[in-house]
Amino acid sequence: MRYSALLAPTLKEVPKEAEVISHQLLLRAGYMRKVAAGIYSYMPLGVRVIERVKTIIREEMTRSGAQEVFLPAVQPAELWKESERWGYYGPELLRVKDRKGGDFCIGPTHEEVMTALVRDDIKSYRQLPLNLFQIQTKFRDEVRPRAGLLRGREFIMKDGYSFDIDEEAAKKTYQVMYDAYVRIFDRCGLSYRPVEADTGNIGGNMSHEFQVLADSGEDSIVSCGSCNYTANVEKAELQQVDDSAFVVPSGSYDKRHTPAVRTVEEVARFLGLPTSSIIKTILYLADEQPVAVLMRGDLEVNEVKVKAALKATTLLLANEATVLEITGAPVGFAGPIGLRCRLVADPSVRTVVDAAVGANELDHHFVGVSIPRDLPEVTYTDLRLAGAGDACGRCGGTFAFFKGIEVGQVFYLGTKYSAKMKAQVLNDKGEENPMVMGCYGIGVTRTMAAAIEQNHDKDGIVWPMALAPYQVIIAPLQLHEPSVVEEAERIYRELSAAGVDVILDDRDLRPGVKLKDADLIGIPVRITIGARSLGEGKVEFKLRRHAEATLISSADIIAETLKTIASERGAAAE
Ligand code: ATP
Ligand code: MG
Repeated sequence: MRYSALLAPTLKEVPKEAEVISHQLLLRAGYMRKVAAGIYSYMPLGVRVIERVKTIIREEMTRSGAQEVFLPAVQPAELWKESERWGYYGPELLRVKDRKGGDFCIGPTHEEVMTALVRDDIKSYRQLPLNLFQIQTKFRDEVRPRAGLLRGREFIMKDGYSFDIDEEAAKKTYQVMYDAYVRIFDRCGLSYRPVEADTGNIGGNMSHEFQVLADSGEDSIVSCGSCNYTANVEKAELQQVDDSAFVVPSGSYDKRHTPAVRTVEEVARFLGLPTSSIIKTILYLADEQPVAVLMRGDLEVNEVKVKAALKATTLLLANEATVLEITGAPVGFAGPIGLRCRLVADPSVRTVVDAAVGANELDHHFVGVSIPRDLPEVTYTDLRLAGAGDACGRCGGTFAFFKGIEVGQVFYLGTKYSAKMKAQVLNDKGEENPMVMGCYGIGVTRTMAAAIEQNHDKDGIVWPMALAPYQVIIAPLQLHEPSVVEEAERIYRELSAAGVDVILDDRDLRPGVKLKDADLIGIPVRITIGARSLGEGKVEFKLRRHAEATLISSADIIAETLKTIASERGAAAE
């Protein structure tokens, strides 16, 4: 590619709306442009990176026995009604009507369409297993599209779905897909962790997320230093306090006047207690029913655990009006004593002696409370959010904390969709059973952005070799010197013939501008040709991720470049 013909307009200023580095660099380096919130056009460099990611995914999926299909982006409501997700997917689902008034959506995911496809053609266990994937545009009307490609509304996803005859076979397929994901992210050259994950809206009960480690990540991961248990904090199992020796205190509680004292910190300060002596009462609507969650004041509630403990499909924090209705008091004074709604408590509240809780009355709290003494009927279940320093639920070791970007997720689905949508096969005894499914997603565009979050410096992107839009950029510095131009053309020709993707910067610009652009767009290898060194038969060879350049004899430059590309790719795939 000749740079003069490439559509890659760079921007000097950091675009105002872009907060995270990948968003800034993708715009500045001319990889994409914004069309609307969370919706982008990809320019040639962007498309090339996307194609790299897709190729790696395709090769590894195919190698694992999966077959590529292509399903429609526009999906009829009927299928979503069969799975019952039309009702509860919520406003993220972009719903549209056709000219006849029929209901459709723009697919945020494809379990329904894929299950229907397989159901209609597969009838016997002999036709299984089946593992199908596609690479396609998805639309999710995210509440807060942000961070460019990390959380877009329209984005490219690889989604795969497997169909097996029974649980055992499906679990084997899950492992095959897990292994494929490891190879995919290794080949991309990313530093990542597979972590145990919650199964969210998709359901089922076994799942891993593949998290690219980056400080800008939205997800929090804990990893045990002793047993290596690694999980999304949403899911992380914590060691419960041993309270077997705990003796329930005798005595009783009192009411205190606590004017305008609402938050845990305010209550603690006013009463002269540590926050661990406060028990907070947080009100939710779980499937529209009020529920109060009790948590020790110095700890945080994990809503994913609450949702799972209540077996709820939806969980919303109660608003002010609902709090007033349930407790009879404004926000800040809710408490478990005398509260007429379902209560669930984290075990951390059991051993608090002389706790302070809201009195369900404006400007009042109870003090001297003991939950097991005053509310013996309460049930306890782990509802706490894990944090750094917590004890691992598997071995008691200590959790360390990371930030991550979820680039992929694998789910064991079981028969969640196949049972509802009647995707059944006859087994070898002639009995009809729902197929056992798994589903496997990778965010293609998110992977591209995550790669930048992990690989950049103050001058721009530093692509891993496998994802770079071009592997090499050749920068001849003096275009009026025929020998410089000739040498640049020769290297360009020979590398291209060897199958390397090369940009020849043939633009008549100052050397400084050329080198800055090469750094900004992040090409891994730069070959700079200057009249002076060329006079001595040398050209400059520089890796984007190293500060120093080396002078190499013109005669060796092709071999050296090929060797570098091969070794960087090999290192990533190992
Ligand atoms: P998140 O928790 O980040 O919203 P998710 O768990 O809902 O994502 P999945 O349903 O697991 O997403 O989708 C599979 C993959 O698609 C994700 O691992 C992620 O890489 C990608 N993805 C999901 N939502 C977005 C988005 N809004 N923008 C870009 N990529 C996305
Ligand atoms: Mg996910």
